[in-house]
Amino acid sequence: MAANILIVEDEESILELIAINLHQAGFNPIRSLNAEFAEKIIREALPDLIVLDWMLPGMDGVEFAKRVRGNSATKNIPIIMLTAKSEEDNKLKGLNTGADDYMTKPFSPKELIARIKAILRRNAPELGDEPINMAGLTLDPVKHLLKEDGKIISIGPTEFKLLNFFMRNPDRVFSRNQILDKIWGNKSDIDDRTVDVHIKRLRDILKHTRQHTLIKTVRGLGYRLTID
Ligand code: CA
Repeated sequence: MAANILIVEDEESILELIAINLHQAGFNPIRSLNAEFAEKIIREALPDLIVLDWMLPGMDGVEFAKRVRGNSATKNIPIIMLTAKSEEDNKLKGLNTGADDYMTKPFSPKELIARIKAILRRNAPELGDEPINMAGLTLDPVKHLLKEDGKIISIGPTEFKLLNFFMRNPDRVFSRNQILDKIWGNKSDIDDRTVDVHIKRLRDILKHTRQHTLIKTVRGLGYRLTID
């Protein structure tokens, strides 16, 4: 599936190590050095999974995880918690942090990638991670690439999620609210206009392809992907 992985880690060398390994595994890593900035990122677009360090300056990982779980928009985002063996192991066991999995530092990046893949498969089997071909466009959710005739089309993460969603549900009309729910998790602080803004951006991207009119406006209802 569209694999935007948010990493929240205050140790830059570890953050970078994880990001590089995620990138090499075909994911799209999004970096944050603290929980406060991570919250801003999530407000912009929901990640598919969060790799979260326990000990962070300011808001710590446990508090951040609670806030993610406490918000209806974000409660289903899987979290892998990173802990340092010494002081954190026992505390974690005694606390219900809502994390889906834990890894103790130092950990093998390969093992982390394997666990991320397992969780994503478990959480979104219906999306699959197979590339999808339609109307000359190829969208690869794992590599996070959009191509036309083998040529890479530049596309932002939210527009990518939108296009992935539409391509897997062709010829169906979706209201702005349904789209909000699917892409942003129906967050109260994001309004319908946000959908219109990103649809416009997606159409601007598609202008660089032969599929100028792939996303149709259905007056009074919403949007639909239709191939002419
Ligand atoms: Ca830390």
